[in-house]
Amino acid sequence: MATDTVEARRLQRETHHEADVVVVGAGIFGCAIAYALAQQGRSVLLLERWMSEPDRIVGELLQPGGIQALKRLGLGHCVDGIDSITCRGYNVIYQGRPVLIPYPTMDERGGVPHQWSGAGKEGKRETGKGFHHGRFVTRLREACLGHPNITVRETEAVRAVRGEHSDHVLGVETRTTDPATRKKTPDYFFGQLTIVADGYDSKFRKEVTADKPVARSKFFALELRDARLPAPGYGHVIIGDAYPILLYQIGTHETRVLFDVPHNIPEAAPAAGGVKNYLANHAIPALPESVRPSALAALEAEKLRSMPNSWLPPTRQVPRGMVVLGDATNMRHPLTGAGMTVAFNDAALLADLLHPDRTPSLADDGAVQAALRTLYWRRKNYTAILNVLAQALYALFAASDPQLHALRMGCFEYFRRGITDGPCGMLGGIIHRPVVLAYHFFSVAFLGIWMHFLETVTSGPGPLGILKAPLAVIDAVLILAKACVVFLPLIWREGFR
Ligand SMILES: Cc1cc2nc3c(=O)[nH]c(=O)nc-3n(C[C@H](O)[C@H](O)[C@H](O)COP(=O)(O)OP(=O)(O)OC[C@H]3O[C@@H](n4cnc5c(N)ncnc54)[C@H](O)[C@@H]3O)c2cc1C
Repeated sequence: MATDTVEARRLQRETHHEADVVVVGAGIFGCAIAYALAQQGRSVLLLERWMSEPDRIVGELLQPGGIQALKRLGLGHCVDGIDSITCRGYNVIYQGRPVLIPYPTMDERGGVPHQWSGAGKEGKRETGKGFHHGRFVTRLREACLGHPNITVRETEAVRAVRGEHSDHVLGVETRTTDPATRKKTPDYFFGQLTIVADGYDSKFRKEVTADKPVARSKFFALELRDARLPAPGYGHVIIGDAYPILLYQIGTHETRVLFDVPHNIPEAAPAAGGVKNYLANHAIPALPESVRPSALAALEAEKLRSMPNSWLPPTRQVPRGMVVLGDATNMRHPLTGAGMTVAFNDAALLADLLHPDRTPSLADDGAVQAALRTLYWRRKNYTAILNVLAQALYALFAASDPQLHALRMGCFEYFRRGITDGPCGMLGGIIHRPVVLAYHFFSVAFLGIWMHFLETVTSGPGPLGILKAPLAVIDAVLILAKACVVFLPLIWREGFR
């Protein structure tokens, strides 16, 4: 595009607050989509309420599938120069017993040769990155600030602006705070299309759906100094002796620990000493011994911070000038660290669908609606896997009933037998084939049932245990029924609706 056109469009944005696209929220999704559309030559206004570096406990582990999408968006450099730490997979510790599940080996075409069973020994492996969320978001914002087709403004969007004679959205009304007086003044920004990515506590969600996020637990966070992880370079998931705990390095000296605390558990009730009591007496003792001293020190020194762990299945939208995306309309439990991977893949896919060659005018509602319809179904190739895995693994790992316990045992044994490339390729956002998830889901269920059967019939004195076989068969039916009741509605909602 000629320099004078770029300059004219910049003036149009700065003087008249008009662009092809208005993006609300310069977080993970907002920066990614703003940058991708600007790269295609669109003129973009990016609005963010707080431009200072975010200080949050979310979005600190980016899966390999997220790194791949980030590179496709032209933003791969944003994980450099922020003291990010390479992550090679997971170390799952179940009742003190560890099993390492590295990200899978890949073939030359980017496929996972052992996705159905086993694990490759040799070959290239993709890796993830751990980092401080704020540093990463600052890098994304710098990329947007430096783009000639983007103008970034610090202002808070408060409502959509509609035409007088139609419900077509023309842009947003905002409040801009004067830094000297702190006085807020109204402002307006207009675009052919408004893309809202205002995060988990979205103000704009109600414009497109009546659904509300469901949260049954919170993550409480501490930042550990120089923690000694049993398997450096791996994210750690600790299960079995407490509610699930995550540990991953986010800087040379810093490790994030996230403790899942379900709502209303007696161990964390105010009368029992609150969440601090649960952490000190139940969760920290479940950590690997080498990590406990730094966790106790952080518990003493730091203020506990928390975030709700929400599930919000995706929404079908028929945009008339505005679409709401990112966490605002789709969330999953953060146990598997999948949110940013979903967001970057969504941004890359949406940008492809809105490319000027395909969708010449963003003012064409029919064309934008067709793009959104395609996005809704095509993104299921990865979201059905990442969202279902997050919810299903949380249900298993936080389980308190005997059937889910049996399935959890099956899951751990599955990994212990070395069937890790498929599961970790899905967790890493590298495998985009929901049928692989269905295959591993039923394999784990049947392994759990078989192990429970063996445990039951071998638990009696001598050969008499075999008399318990009918009981074991009833248990098998109950376990399978439980698996279906808990997981099939989830698979149906995320995969087919
Ligand atoms: C405890 C926890 C841990 C997590 N850990 C991980 C992890 O390790 N890996 C991972 O991939 N995902 C993780 N996630 C999920 C991940 O953080 C989100 O999926 C991701 O941040 C969503 O991006 P977003 O752009 O939709 O929202 P956000 O990143 O929250 O961005 C929203 C932006 O919009 C701005 N904004 C909000 N309202 C307005 C307004 N009215 N006007 C202007 N601007 C506005 C906000 O200031 C913010 O900058 C975690 C989530 C939780 C709860």
